[in-house]
Amino acid sequence: MSRPRPQPKIDPALVAKVQDIRAEIRAEYLSDHEHPWIVGFSGGKDSTLVAHLVFDVLLSLAPHERRREVHIVSNDTLVESPLVISHIATLHAEIDHAADAWRLPIRVVTTRPDGDATFWVNLIGRGYPPPNRSFRWCTDRMKIQPTSRYIKNLADTSGQAILLLGVRRSESSTRAATVARYDNGERLNRHNDLLNCMVFRPIVELSTDEVWEYLAFNPPPWGGSHHALFQLYMDAGAAECPTVMSQDDTPSCGSSSSRFGCWTCTVVDKDKSLAGFVEAGFAEFTPLVEFRDWLASIRDVPERRMARRRNGKLTITSEGVFIPGPFTLDTRREILARVHAMETEMGRTLIEDAEVARIREIWADDASQVAAWSAAVANG
Ligand code: SF4
Repeated sequence: MSRPRPQPKIDPALVAKVQDIRAEIRAEYLSDHEHPWIVGFSGGKDSTLVAHLVFDVLLSLAPHERRREVHIVSNDTLVESPLVISHIATLHAEIDHAADAWRLPIRVVTTRPDGDATFWVNLIGRGYPPPNRSFRWCTDRMKIQPTSRYIKNLADTSGQAILLLGVRRSESSTRAATVARYDNGERLNRHNDLLNCMVFRPIVELSTDEVWEYLAFNPPPWGGSHHALFQLYMDAGAAECPTVMSQDDTPSCGSSSSRFGCWTCTVVDKDKSLAGFVEAGFAEFTPLVEFRDWLASIRDVPERRMARRRNGKLTITSEGVFIPGPFTLDTRREILARVHAMETEMGRTLIEDAEVARIREIWADDASQVAAWSAAVANG
């Protein structure tokens, strides 16, 4: 008869370490003010662990001690990887449902870019070339500003807000440098860009292995398991696109290590956000991968770019290099037609009606602008 195999156990040292982190979170929550908390929640392993521990702490408190509101905030760029955004939506629903049942002061929130600042409105409407390393126009508009606006509003109405981030020193050398710069030896650090916002990084000293180990051995307090998270990483073969809260975080957005970013991302040479999912069997996303590659391929084709920038100026650098303007109106129309064709093929919405309406307004303005330039040139 075969003997039962010993069950794997969590390292007791890790249990003690996380116990200390929970005590820190609890002490900060119970400190003598009521400034709301915001958990930056990307759906990745680090922010999931922070949400998990915060939820644990709230559950451990008596109802009268749960005075501080906790906002679990995710950002949807509207061009997120479909599997990642649906994973976040599922988690939001689970957290919301459990928080309601336990009467915890938790709100789940999704921020989005301003209607005039989405990927499609800039790419198809204004004809911006797809972002690359030297012209990465997307991160600030689509990721930093929406969440910053939310934090700022909350800080303005409450006097101060505390932002909990799942950043860790061991993530990368860039991250370690950022963390070191924020380190003031206190539990809370002032946010570099946002007034009245303090940053709390409860898991800053955990390693990647420790985060995974803790999540593997401890189901989320809102119910279910972290299995879907493990599966998501396995399918993507992945590093994640982290919660981006300031320019300091942006090197990792759209970097070769980011695989949970926008599916349209052309900052990486080869798409990794969706290609991994396609390889893992999600063949239905193949058109998105092909579209992204096509977008990258037309970026620098001279015939697809206007000579003048949108302000009417011709740009020639001091070294005599001509910098072309935005995509031509024909190319913008072609991109929109391709997006609509993909929607039909895939049976899912990829661009919102409001975005298409805004794009058509911008096209009308640009067409009259081009007519005015042509008339000016013809009249000498
Ligand atoms: S993932 Fe890529 S496209 Fe999306 S905001 Fe980051 S750099 Fe831009």
